[in-house]
Amino acid sequence: MLHLPMDRWRDWIPSDCPGCGRRVGCQGLCPDCLTCLRPDAARPRCRRCAHPLNDAGHCPDCGPGTPAYDRVVAAFDYAGLGRDLVRNYKIRCRLSLARLLADLLAQSVRAAGSVDGPDWIVPVPARRAALHQRGFSPPAEVARLLARQLGLRHRLDGVRRLREGDRQVGRDRVRRLQAQTGAFACGVAGSLAGQRIAVVDDVLTTGATLQAVARVLKEAGAARVEGWVLARAVDHRACDSSGGRVLQ
Ligand SMILES: [Zn+2]
Ligand SMILES: [Zn+2]
Repeated sequence: MLHLPMDRWRDWIPSDCPGCGRRVGCQGLCPDCLTCLRPDAARPRCRRCAHPLNDAGHCPDCGPGTPAYDRVVAAFDYAGLGRDLVRNYKIRCRLSLARLLADLLAQSVRAAGSVDGPDWIVPVPARRAALHQRGFSPPAEVARLLARQLGLRHRLDGVRRLREGDRQVGRDRVRRLQAQTGAFACGVAGSLAGQRIAVVDDVLTTGATLQAVARVLKEAGAARVEGWVLARAVDHRACDSSGGRVLQ
């Protein structure tokens, strides 16, 4: 009998494309949906946070200060199909999408040349209420699968929440930054000296959460912090257009 690793079977088992519902010969998106998901390569992006630059060539999110994180790698934009996939994963709690989303993020990480970088993959910790409601942490599930795919180490407790805080939907960047300051702590204090960390999250909106997490990791000695996110919000209003349904 032929024995193959479980991941290899996924290339041969037909399934319905999670984007359009069309039958495809493998587990994942059909070629049309994959093309649709790809960010517009012609649009210049901020080299630090991956937000498209405005007409003047400036990043609307980075502002004058230098963020604590060094770079963001995003699998796709939080728009159209990308937004649908994240909402189905987070809001409709389709945990089965975790593998596809981790695959897409792994491809972006490889394309960005980041795969040899981090010593650890660490997820942004979920709020207790959201964890209780969903039964799983969206960033943690992706971080776990991503680490396996890329052959990297992960620590689900690398960052912990000190405060639950309110949801961020509808807040502007300044209020988000204020709300997230002091909300996190390093979960492995004393062991991060010189380490390179990839912080995994589902959606990067203004970067306030990543900024707060990166700051505590840097204060704990991390040499480099990258944000690896499923979706990069390219228009913050898009994240809030669901009437506050997006859980963060
Ligand atoms: Zn499709
Ligand atoms: Zn930027």
